[in-house]
This record gives sequence, structure tokens and C-alpha cells, in this order.
Amino acid sequence: MECKKETNSKFCNCTYSCSKHGVCCDCLAYHRRSGEVPACYFPNDIEKDYNRSIDNFIKIVTERGTSYLK
Ligand code: SF4
Repeated sequence: MECKKETNSKFCNCTYSCSKHGVCCDCLAYHRRSGEVPACYFPNDIEKDYNRSIDNFIKIVTERGTSYLK
């Protein structure tokens, strides 16, 4: 399977300097190991704080719903 890094990077909202931009499989596995979810699970104003915890994700979804994910 061909890596879609270039295409994926166009939709990546992560502002952290990281080699995993657009390599979603590595990005997800990295954050999952840490009990977190990737930047794209958060709205831009929250993503920039770099709190990728599942607790923070639940808090944001509870407050804002899931429409920002579309
Ligand atoms: S969400 Fe995490 S792993 Fe993915 S590109 Fe950003 S900092 Fe890297």
C-alpha cells in the first residue's frame, strides 16, 4: 500500500513540530500508547495547547459536540 503522507498532511491540523505529520498510522499508534488521541481529534484552538489526553477529548466533545470533526 502506498503511503498517503502528502495527501494526509493537507488535512493535518497539528501545530507541533513532528516527523509524523501525515503519517497517520504512526501518529495514531504513538498517541494511543500514551493514552491520547492525535491533534485532528481537537478543534484548532484546543490542539495548540498540546493536551491530547482522552480526558481532554471527552471534555471538549461534551462541551462542543462532534460537529467540529467533520
Ligand atoms: S498529532 Fe502528535 S504524532 Fe501526530 S503529527 Fe502531531 S505531534 Fe506528531
